[in-house]
Amino acid sequence: MRPQIDAAIKRVLDSGWYLLGPELEAMESEWAEWCGASHAVGMSNGLDALHLILRAWDIGPGDEVIVPSNTYIASWLGVTMAGATPVPVEPEWDTCCIDPAQIEAAITLRTKAIMPVHLYGHACDMNAIMSIARRHGLKVIEDAAQAHGAEVDGKRVGSHGDAIAWSFYPSKNLGALGDAGAVTTNDMQTASKLKMLRNYGSAVRYVNDVPGYNNRLEEIHAAVLREKIKVLDAWNERREVLVNRYQEAFAETDLTLPVVRPGTRHAWHLYTIRHPNRDAIRAHLELAGIGTLIHYPIPPHRQKAYESLGLFHEAFPIAEKIHAETLSLPLGPHLSLDSQERVIEAVLEAIKML
Ligand SMILES: *Cc1c(COP(=O)(O)O)cnc(C)c1O
Repeated sequence: MRPQIDAAIKRVLDSGWYLLGPELEAMESEWAEWCGASHAVGMSNGLDALHLILRAWDIGPGDEVIVPSNTYIASWLGVTMAGATPVPVEPEWDTCCIDPAQIEAAITLRTKAIMPVHLYGHACDMNAIMSIARRHGLKVIEDAAQAHGAEVDGKRVGSHGDAIAWSFYPSKNLGALGDAGAVTTNDMQTASKLKMLRNYGSAVRYVNDVPGYNNRLEEIHAAVLREKIKVLDAWNERREVLVNRYQEAFAETDLTLPVVRPGTRHAWHLYTIRHPNRDAIRAHLELAGIGTLIHYPIPPHRQKAYESLGLFHEAFPIAEKIHAETLSLPLGPHLSLDSQERVIEAVLEAIKML
């Protein structure tokens, strides 16, 4: 995409306008439209998007937010940055998404919100989660950092919950040339509060209504993202083609393969296989010159950063098992069929050697 990206950057340099300008405004309306949401608010990154949503709703110290026990730590960090307490709930083993059947037991008088994370690109069961939230008067904040293009009942992730946090970290399905993020929402009040909070708490220059932050999305990133939104559908389709080949190649093995819940579309941010001998498979691939990653090696409740929460480790066996067995194989719109063939052969070889 070099020519389009060069042209986008040139547009910004020629304009001499670097923050809160026309590129951001255009990007916000294009991203809202792509997601089927009424509003999009650009943010400095996904973590800040999560944090500011909670600030916008005045969720903070003394409040609890229900989060999945298996996720990237940033989901929890959004909660603790706001001063609130993350309350982990176990995922479903097959989808790796928060288990709606276990949410209600975690609700207390302090619970203010539920945070589903569409992990690896699999959309959570939003119908079940929304009905629990409505029944208990809770807000729903979605972490969609891995779910650009995921769908529930034919509707893209981006407007099922009350506010949706996006990351445009370079390797996400939609990635900037550095850190960037956004929030989508159908609620105008949330959108305008977020616009204030990201800009020092100010809606009118030098007039500050609330103590805010500096969490803006820069014009250069907005301009580049606008170009990449145009190819996002095609890139996601390419991911799907590659995933179908993986699924077919591994169908007869004893690997636990990713599933797609009926009624949802997977965004395939990551292609994750699971196996009790994950580390041996990974080592074999490494020897074959194939890079893999583990998303994620240590669950948040076992991180030193969250020692002070005093969580009982044994309470999260499903999260622990996922973190112990999961392995992400190479995947992306850039992956050639030949390269993928090498990966497939190496995985099959590795399994045979176990
Ligand atoms: C990437 C990611 C984030 C954080 O996004 P940044 O833009 O890197 O701050 C949050 N949650 C999940 C699930 C992510 O994958």
